Amino acid sequence: MTYLAVSISAKSEKEALPRIDQAIADGAEMVEIRADYLEPGEAGAIGSLISAVHARQVPVIVTCRSPEEGGVNDCPAERRIEVLREAAAQGADYVDCEYRTYTTHGVKSQVDAALAAHPRCRLILSCHDFKGCFEDIRILQESILTVCPTAIPKLVYTARSISDNFEALDLLHENEPEQDMIVLTMGPSATLSRVLAKKFGSFLTFASLDEATATAWGQTPVRQMKTLYRWDGLDGRTEVYGIIGNPVGHSISPAVYNACFEAAKINAVYLPLPVEGGREEFDLFLHNVVHRPWLEAGGFSVTIPHKTHALSFALEGGNFVESLPVRIGAVNTLKIGFNGIVTGYNTDLSGAMEALTETLGIALHDLHQVRAAVIGAGGAARAVVAGLTEAGAQVTIYNRTLSRARALAAEFHCEALAFEAVEELDAEVVINCTSIGMHPNTEASPVPASVWKPGMVAFDTVYNPLETLFLRQAAAAGARTVNGAEMFIRQAIAQYRRLIGQEPDEKLIRRVVYSRLS
Ligand code: NAP
Repeated sequence: MTYLAVSISAKSEKEALPRIDQAIADGAEMVEIRADYLEPGEAGAIGSLISAVHARQVPVIVTCRSPEEGGVNDCPAERRIEVLREAAAQGADYVDCEYRTYTTHGVKSQVDAALAAHPRCRLILSCHDFKGCFEDIRILQESILTVCPTAIPKLVYTARSISDNFEALDLLHENEPEQDMIVLTMGPSATLSRVLAKKFGSFLTFASLDEATATAWGQTPVRQMKTLYRWDGLDGRTEVYGIIGNPVGHSISPAVYNACFEAAKINAVYLPLPVEGGREEFDLFLHNVVHRPWLEAGGFSVTIPHKTHALSFALEGGNFVESLPVRIGAVNTLKIGFNGIVTGYNTDLSGAMEALTETLGIALHDLHQVRAAVIGAGGAARAVVAGLTEAGAQVTIYNRTLSRARALAAEFHCEALAFEAVEELDAEVVINCTSIGMHPNTEASPVPASVWKPGMVAFDTVYNPLETLFLRQAAAAGARTVNGAEMFIRQAIAQYRRLIGQEPDEKLIRRVVYSRLS
């Protein structure tokens, strides 16, 4: 079993008790009392806090962390050891002592004596690195077990990039099932190790009560672990999916995919995978995944800034890519076959074209000879321009960087103009493929209100907010509108089919997308 533990970092018993209740109500399967957070006058609270957790049939860890390893009070080592001895005597199931403290002169014998007197209580020996990876995590683990073979080693380090998480996953994967061990990372990509801790049998993982009370960088709130990442359903056979991009913290894709997995009873989890950097970091992450078939990674959604990197990756090394993404120059979907071959797809084009035609109740061929203005020349614009020109529309591209507009126009045999020329645009369909108007700059539009006339069509690829200024001004002038959520939903459905090989529940996807964006 992997326990879902929540750390309680309260200053007093009064503050701690409602947090313990909340943590257990939200799904905590173990509670850690961080005694170093308790104010000096509250030292006697430990016994009653242990009883309060036990009264809810949940095991408890007591920790009095040293300042060198993230503790908050400058409490002397003797007092910290005294707290752990008291905790063992008061019925704590586990006490967590830093390995470094345990191996200082005289401490081991005191801790061992306390545990011998209270054999129900087990020792966790922990090491933390707040700057990066341990010098040699395997040697560290062996050293801990040599000094105390009955201890549970707890190794927590900072993943400076997402690929640093693989060291933790490798160690858990190689670990013998009978050896209890905790290996977790901290940092912006820590969700990967903290959720997959259950797949790979870590003794526990830590979640936070909420974002405000997290005790380590990268802890996910316990309620999210239970509902979004479906903690109860995770096991050794859970398949792994996710969205690669930067940033991805506010992506709605994890909510969409995990809800679909739940509805279809699929043993899989979909995670945010922030890959900072460029092509090199993207390739490193993908190579790390592909070379670990035991991860059971099924594939990924890819977003800004990695869609071109995903195309290059899929074009190389015996992988495969459909002709459409090659033409568009971007891949937003990477499927990993069980032979390790990666296939690249692009579902943005079909998503955009279906949103446009289905929302307006027209057929693709109705776009033939229609004059369309596309604003932007990035990834979304490439998919839209490819779709429109294929349908026979007459496209003019407007972009801030005119050279990018010209290059795109040359590829798809259309016209390019400077961004400022939008004020004079003459088109029946206008599509915003820039991020202008996106949260938090919601009072901006890429075109002045004066361009809109009754009967025109306004399509905004931006979906946060749902009703952008671009769409509101167009509607006010009598134009028909298509919002970015419609594109998102259709590209997500096409992507789900590619990645999962099943038909998703469209109504469910709509419900999740609109409730998240409203
Ligand atoms: P991208 O490749 O980074 O391209 C961004 C485009 O926006 C570039 O043309 C850029 O012009 C332009 N731009 C950005 N800020 C600007 C500003 N302040 N003034 C003028 N132009 C500006 O991004 P992308 O992948 O194409 O995404 C663009 C938008 O499409 C985003 O809002 C994204 O959320 C949306 N999108 C939606 C869906 C969906 O399913 N609904 C799917 C994909 C993308 P320069 O060339 O001059 O830099």
